[in-house]
Amino acid sequence: VSKTKKPKISQDKSLGLSSKILRRDFLNSTLLGAGSALFSMSSPIALSAGSSINDELYMNLPQQVKDDWYGYGGIGDSKESHGNTPDTLKVAHAVRDSAFNLENIKNLNVLEQYDLVIIGAGLSGLGAAQRLKELDPNKKCLILDNHPIFGGEAKRNEFNIKGQVIAAPQGSNSFYYKTKYDFDEDRKYIKLLNIPDEFSYGEMVNNSKKLVFAQENYDVQMWGEELISKGHFVDEQSHDIDSQWIKNIWKDKLKRYPVSEKVRNDLLTWKYTKDMPKDDDKTNAWLDNMTYKDYIENVMGLDEEVTKFADPVLASSGGMGCDVMSAYIARLLGMYGVSPDAPVDPKKRHSFPGGNDGFARHFIKWLIPHAIHGDNNFEDIMNHPINFQGLDHPDNSVRCRLNSNVVNVAHTNSGDNKSSVEVTYYKKGKLFKVKSKAVVMATGGWINKYIVKDLPRSHYDAYNRFNHAPMLVANVALTNWRFLHRLGITACQWTGGFGFHTNIRKPMHVGNDKPSLDPNNPIVLTFYVSFEKANQGYTAEQQSRLGQYEMLAKPYIEYEREIRQQMVKMFANSGFDVQNDIAGIILNRWGHAYVTPTPGFFYNTEGGPGYANIIKSTPFGRISFGHSELRGYQHWGPAAAEGSRAVDQISHYL
Ligand SMILES: Cc1cc2nc3c(=O)[nH]c(=O)nc-3n(C[C@H](O)[C@H](O)[C@H](O)COP(=O)(O)OP(=O)(O)OC[C@H]3O[C@@H](n4cnc5c(N)ncnc54)[C@H](O)[C@@H]3O)c2cc1C
Repeated sequence: VSKTKKPKISQDKSLGLSSKILRRDFLNSTLLGAGSALFSMSSPIALSAGSSINDELYMNLPQQVKDDWYGYGGIGDSKESHGNTPDTLKVAHAVRDSAFNLENIKNLNVLEQYDLVIIGAGLSGLGAAQRLKELDPNKKCLILDNHPIFGGEAKRNEFNIKGQVIAAPQGSNSFYYKTKYDFDEDRKYIKLLNIPDEFSYGEMVNNSKKLVFAQENYDVQMWGEELISKGHFVDEQSHDIDSQWIKNIWKDKLKRYPVSEKVRNDLLTWKYTKDMPKDDDKTNAWLDNMTYKDYIENVMGLDEEVTKFADPVLASSGGMGCDVMSAYIARLLGMYGVSPDAPVDPKKRHSFPGGNDGFARHFIKWLIPHAIHGDNNFEDIMNHPINFQGLDHPDNSVRCRLNSNVVNVAHTNSGDNKSSVEVTYYKKGKLFKVKSKAVVMATGGWINKYIVKDLPRSHYDAYNRFNHAPMLVANVALTNWRFLHRLGITACQWTGGFGFHTNIRKPMHVGNDKPSLDPNNPIVLTFYVSFEKANQGYTAEQQSRLGQYEMLAKPYIEYEREIRQQMVKMFANSGFDVQNDIAGIILNRWGHAYVTPTPGFFYNTEGGPGYANIIKSTPFGRISFGHSELRGYQHWGPAAAEGSRAVDQISHYL
């Protein structure tokens, strides 16, 4: 990790770092003197000596980060839960470092008994609970999640900007519907949860420039960009040219885009080729045993610059670049050359105001009708506050318990005679134990291998081959977007610096909440920032570690500085006022955002099932594994279906 020079205070002032914005609530030290975060990636964690063994064991785990790390969380129900919290970091790393004493855990009393315990309240955990309730609504189920709010990657941030409440996604962003790409699972859940299948969005008043807006943040990063008013920013650093915006680069076959003739032709071949590999098992297995970089450069014979162009887009959807991700996952993610260039009609790409938290909220309402105040309709489910007490009420058949970090999952008997499972979790400094007939692990590979005791070697080895990529999702609230209007663009892409893409999302109408688009009014820009280290010779595992370290080690203020510098560079000439236009910034840091399928994830070299399959197909006694990573391609409906499948695998125990 390279060291950066400390910026001068005068530079910070001109960047508006001393302006009054929504950011300071959690910064205990003075802003400009904030120290760097402490992040002990590998140091062993010692427990405080002499912890007594009782039902409420106090664990004095050291904090992983300082007060200047987390930053502002916005308003509303998710204000204390944006990205991974300091508490989840603390406990997860203590688990990794074997800080919990197994003898102590063994001696804890069981406090409650359930038919099924589900670990993880993301979409896969919620899908698991939905399946159980469908099979038998009287079964007693407990969902445990380590964050202060359910949803996993599908959560929202909310800002109050000049009296206007605007939501934005913390992670999972969008969905498509009524397209040929729909997953059957998406359709099934949209119907089951009674989610509307038509949506309306705010339009721009007085749109004399005929600006076209995306309805979400992903398709516009590449596939649908020709259909949107998008500009690419190029400058001396990125392209050895005076800084400028180039609008709609594909319109004239990249003539205005500053690359060599060869690279231009190769980029066009990559994007428009009709020569696709077949879509059968044999071909897919072949694709899954090479990297996407291999495919672009060796199979298609294109320039390395094409790979570099593709890197940030692939990383935005899968966490890492073309040099480690398989060509088959690239195909599943719709990358050019392996997947036809057929953009989904942008009107069929949707994003709820807070991203896919809309699905999580519908699931929880279906499972626990009083979990969200108000009636069972779209508007109330989306806009009403969560009834946190009702989530874990003893009368519920499904209970959802938050802030509960599971640290140990163990069968009560070893060998073939596995009669139940005990689950131990850490909550606010204490350990608790519950017992269940069976358990679904709806979490992620990075943690399952540490918390499931006596995990079979086959599963452990398979999980060890999973690599996880971090992502930072930064939501930047703006008082206005006149600078974009002046430029005549609604979406922006650039190379180098902070992030690579951002765009205005049309606001979805929810009930009577019907915002429109006006450059003089507030918006939130979402930046999806990967930490890919492509083309530097690192393995996926090294890229994962380096990326996680880089993302987690910086204090909030450093990201704020980078965001401001990036925006000044691109927008100052069109009137962006860095001292006044930013109203607030929320950082959502996800340490294990995506699993990054490397070659062999889906298919082995003989064309048989790949390394993820053993975990998916084989429960360990009464413990089954159902999380979105096991599909490789992480998507909301299939995530819920993975949870559902995991319930079916152990339902005979219930
Ligand atoms: C940046 C980003 C953007 C994305 N965009 C989209 C998109 O636009 N559309 C789309 O369909 N999908 C998107 N996804 C994919 C998304 O991850 C899946 O769709 C889905 O939401 C994942 O659900 P999950 O339940 O498998 O995992 P998660 O959402 O990660 O849920 C797992 C839960 O388990 C909890 N947990 C972990 N360990 C423990 C423990 N020890 N104890 C208790 N709880 C624990 C976690 O904190 C989390 O709450 C995106 C993902 C990321 C990272």
